[in-house]
Amino acid sequence: MNNQLIELSIYGFAILLILVVLLVYIKKQRRESKIVDVKIEHAKSEGIHEPVSLYPVVDPNRCIKSGACVDACPEHDILGIRNGRATIINASHCIGHGACFRACPVEAISLWIGTEKRGVDLPDVSPTFETNVPGVYVAGELGGMGLIKNAVSQGREAVENIVKTIKKDVKAQYDLIVVGAGPAGISATLAAKKYNLKVLTLEQGTLGGTVFTFPRSKIVMTAPMDLPLFGKVKFRETSKTELLDLWHTVLSKNNISIKENSKVEAIVPGGGIFNVEILGGDVYSSKAVLIAIGRRGTPRKLGVPGEESEKVAYRLLEPEEIKGKNILVVGGGDSAIESALLLADNNKVTLSYRSDAFNRIKVRNAVDIKEAIQNNLVDVKFNSNIVSIDKDSVSYTMKDSTETLKIKNDLVYIFAGGELPTQFLKKIGIDVTTKYGESILKH
Ligand SMILES: Cc1cc2nc3c(=O)[nH]c(=O)nc-3n(C[C@H](O)[C@H](O)[C@H](O)COP(=O)(O)OP(=O)(O)OC[C@H]3O[C@@H](n4cnc5c(N)ncnc54)[C@H](O)[C@@H]3O)c2cc1C
Ligand code: SF4
Repeated sequence: MNNQLIELSIYGFAILLILVVLLVYIKKQRRESKIVDVKIEHAKSEGIHEPVSLYPVVDPNRCIKSGACVDACPEHDILGIRNGRATIINASHCIGHGACFRACPVEAISLWIGTEKRGVDLPDVSPTFETNVPGVYVAGELGGMGLIKNAVSQGREAVENIVKTIKKDVKAQYDLIVVGAGPAGISATLAAKKYNLKVLTLEQGTLGGTVFTFPRSKIVMTAPMDLPLFGKVKFRETSKTELLDLWHTVLSKNNISIKENSKVEAIVPGGGIFNVEILGGDVYSSKAVLIAIGRRGTPRKLGVPGEESEKVAYRLLEPEEIKGKNILVVGGGDSAIESALLLADNNKVTLSYRSDAFNRIKVRNAVDIKEAIQNNLVDVKFNSNIVSIDKDSVSYTMKDSTETLKIKNDLVYIFAGGELPTQFLKKIGIDVTTKYGESILKH
């Protein structure tokens, strides 16, 4: 009898223990789900829940909530575990390296591009990277595949195809013009040099493409890649500086210079060659053109005197380094407001916007800018138009007035929208298809 009692107590204790563990587990799961719910709501209000390009899709019937995808993603809070399943939080921050895809032990993740609500425009290209305009090729992220490694491979492979088509008897200044000097354009330029093509690379901004815009502290994730005229690059994790230094070194060792600050405005075919026109009027002829302009587009300019000055920029890099300056931010969208707020910590900031109120901005930004105005942290000039940018000042007019006013100024940041890559491609006659949700990487 005693033994029976002891046995019963042991079973009872074991069952109780299991129940306690189960309860703790369920509570923990509920708590985690609640946190993820809050993050999703926040992402929705910030407009970053919906993907802009590539993003992971989780098959709920396969997911075993291992959490491996969440741990594997180095970009933070793109995925989370909610109600025992992996789910999307900030899809727009996904850069598509597929670490989640490879980490999932039950192959429940695939990578997609575009959604039913938000289509993604992709140029139609053949397996040789040629578009429907013969002689014009596309490589890199513009074609839909993100990542430095993919851009480098595509730039190289595109040139391996182009080199077979170059005709000696056709007369042009160049065999190949590469548009854009991000990872794809740099790799293509090196490959062209390797195959002795006469190549010109035109970059609207600064060599490095999107990588140039990364924060200095960002860990750049990549995979070993084959860089023409260099060989295997064995990085898995690197920094922006290390990557840019590598490209600069390989280019200069091979006497290649890239023409920066040269925005390609038009590519006009005629007589078996292409005339490539850059902003400012210069025109270069070429037998083939490779477009490697990524997906970020071209910032719109104000078109005022002095805009070409070095103190004018169209994106904000490393705001923490900028201190004690008189800064003008131009624009009324989220980028302008977020930049003005960031800079206001250590500088005197004026925000010029040509309308009389901020429309279509994130709720968070609307609240923050209102508070910054009330606390005199940002001087917002609604209904103002910049008329000229000078060395130490900026001149502007107010709506319904002809009087020109002046403010002291050291730096100008312009966020006036821009031309999307799709518009650029369509101008050249390249066919573009909108993808409304297509799997590009699946098991
Ligand atoms: C925040 C963020 C983090 C990322 N982190 C990583 C990472 O860790 N690892 C990774 O592998 N990838 C990462 N990526 C993705 C990676 O940066 C891109 O996939 C890659 O840079 C694409 O290379 P690309 O050469 O196709 O285009 P881009 O790098 O975008 O280069 C295109 C170039 O073309 C130029 N251009 C555009 N229009 C014109 C024109 N009309 N005339 C002349 N030039 C023009 C642009 O100025 C630009 O320099 C990240 C992306 C972002 C946004
Ligand atoms: S593809 Fe990369 S960035 Fe996107 S969710 Fe997966 S691991 Fe994160």
